[in-house]
Formats: sequence, structure tokens, C-alpha cells
Amino acid sequence: MIHAPRITRARERMAAVGVDVLLLSVGPDLPYLTGYEAMPLERLTMLVLPVEGEARLVVPGLEAPRVDNREQLFEIAAWEETDDPIAVVAGLVSASARRIAIGDHTWARFVLDLQRALPERAFVRATDVVSPLRIVKDADEIAALTRAAHAVDGIAADMRAVRFSGRSELDVHRELVDRMLAAGHDRANFAIVAAGANAASPHHEPSAERLIADGELVLCDFGGTMAGYCSDITRMFHVGEPSEEVAGVYAVLAAAQEAGVQAATVGARCEDVDAASRRVIADAGFGDYFVHRVGHGIGTEAHEDPYLVAGNALALEAGHAFSVEPGIYLPDRFGMRLEDIVVARADGPERLNVAPRDIAIVA
Ligand code: ZN
Ligand code: ZN
Ligand code: ZN
Repeated sequence: MIHAPRITRARERMAAVGVDVLLLSVGPDLPYLTGYEAMPLERLTMLVLPVEGEARLVVPGLEAPRVDNREQLFEIAAWEETDDPIAVVAGLVSASARRIAIGDHTWARFVLDLQRALPERAFVRATDVVSPLRIVKDADEIAALTRAAHAVDGIAADMRAVRFSGRSELDVHRELVDRMLAAGHDRANFAIVAAGANAASPHHEPSAERLIADGELVLCDFGGTMAGYCSDITRMFHVGEPSEEVAGVYAVLAAAQEAGVQAATVGARCEDVDAASRRVIADAGFGDYFVHRVGHGIGTEAHEDPYLVAGNALALEAGHAFSVEPGIYLPDRFGMRLEDIVVARADGPERLNVAPRDIAIVA
């Protein structure tokens, strides 16, 4: 019975921001509010949620049996193969509705058709309605994020005993994917494996040709979705003992990550967390080599609000969940990042990830 109160809060938010109708199709907002996930297909599925009155789920007739609506959140409006679902949706939008919020992930072809079918209405982003709800995680959501975090913690710990030398980046990538599924994830969302200079590119694509060599630093950043909630962790591995230089730069990175986590207190601004990590890296002379924001929110999406970035003055609240993941990237040499998921709590920041944070020395 979590969805009915969420819909009530969404309607309160719609009223507050002057949205008359919320239209949700594919993407995370619809399952957040209803428990139902639209199929990402050319046949349109769309929730029509007016600020007052009956909600309807417009759904292809053949998918209607998938809809389990135990909470009686909406009426089902099934459309048959020869019907025009755009006309069905437009017909459910009241003539007096002026502002329509539409889901950020809705396919452009449906948005364009709906704009044509509903002329002289303002279309705004559903994020402005739903994000303020989704950004604050309740106890069950934090428990789900914690389970997902501990699953990848176990993998990060086990990988310390795994051989890296002589294997391709792609081979290690596949092992991470397999391990995420074996550890209970429904799907793997990404597994970056970047050896040596490749790690200087923060989102490097693992290569089948690039073999990991002795004496190399390897970045592993991986995450998936487990029971609807995402994991995301970055740990560093080194084949043999790291050089003094690598160890020294890593000490700066680890101090920067710790400073970011400690700055993530309730009431701190998102940009303060970024600044806290960035200051440590800049003071050590590597400021030009930390080329991204320090973190992103996490929940049913791997990246969502709040974004911990300069210019975001949003204050952290209890229940905000996000990554703290500074990096130092030296072009043509090596790159490193250290990432944990953190929850802002009334009594201080709490890391959900507990895997060892030092550089793992591997064979
Ligand atoms: Zn990233
Ligand atoms: Zn990551
Ligand atoms: Zn991340």
C-alpha cells in the first residue's frame, strides 16, 4: 500500500506547481507511483492522472492482463490494435486542463503526436512533479539500496583474490556482470573496466583487445538493479605493488572522498559536498584532473536527483541517497576513482558501501 499515498502526494505537488494533468509512460516515474512498468514499445502505455478525478491507465489490449491494480489506483482504458491511443489519451485530458506534465522518458514520437492532439496546452517536465517525491527515500527504499550496495561490496571484496594480469578488460567486465547477476541483481547496468591510461577516460568502454599487464592500475566501476533499486561502486585494483606515485595520488583521492562523505550532512548544499572533495584534490595540485561532479542521486535509476555539482544549492535532507565519487585522471598515464553510496541521515552521513577502500593488490 505504498502507491496510493505516493499518488496523493503527486497530486498535492501538481496542485502546488499548477499542473492539471500528469502523463506517464516508460521510465521510472510510472512504477514509482503505481507499481506498473510500461513496456518500452511502439504501442503506447500512458497513465493519465488528473489533479482531481479518476486516473486512467491507457494500455494496449494485449498487455492489459499484465496490469495488476490491486490498490485500485486507476481504471484501465485498454485500446485495440486499430484504435488510435493518442486520441484515447487526448480524450481523457479535460478540456479545461492548461498545463500538462509529461514523463521525461516518453518517446519523442508520442510527445509530438500529443502536442498536436492537445493544442494550446503547455507541456512541462514530469520531473518537476515527481522528483521531489522520489528524492527522499523511505526506510524500505534505503533497505533496498543497502541490500544492493552489500551485494556489490561482496563482489568488490571477492575480486581482490581474482587474477587480473593477462586478461582483457572485456573478460573482467563479463566477470563483474556475471557476479552481479549471481549476487541477486535483476540486471547489470554497467561494468567499466579500465586499465592503465584507459582509466584516464572516466567512462572508458572495456576492450576485448586490451590485456591487463603487470604493474598496471585497473579501475572497476560497476552497478546494477536489484529488486528495483540500483547499486554503484568503484574500486581500484593494482597488479603487483603500486608505485610511490600511484600510492601518493590515491592517498589524495581517498582523503577527498572522505571529505566529501563527511560534508554530506543534512542541510549542507549539494555543491558544498562537491566543493569539499574538490578542495582536497585542488590543494594537492590535481584540480585540473578531477573533471566531473562528485556525485549523483541513486534510487530506481542509477543516476537521478540530487546531483552533487557546483551550482546546485539544493540542501540535503534526511533520506537523500547519492554517490560520492571523486576521481583523478592523468591523461596518457592512469586514472582513479573511489565511489560509495551515501545516505544523509539526521545524525550524519552513512555510507551504504563497506567494501575495503584501499587499492587492492592483485595478481
Ligand atoms: Zn560515471
Ligand atoms: Zn559508478
Ligand atoms: Zn556513480
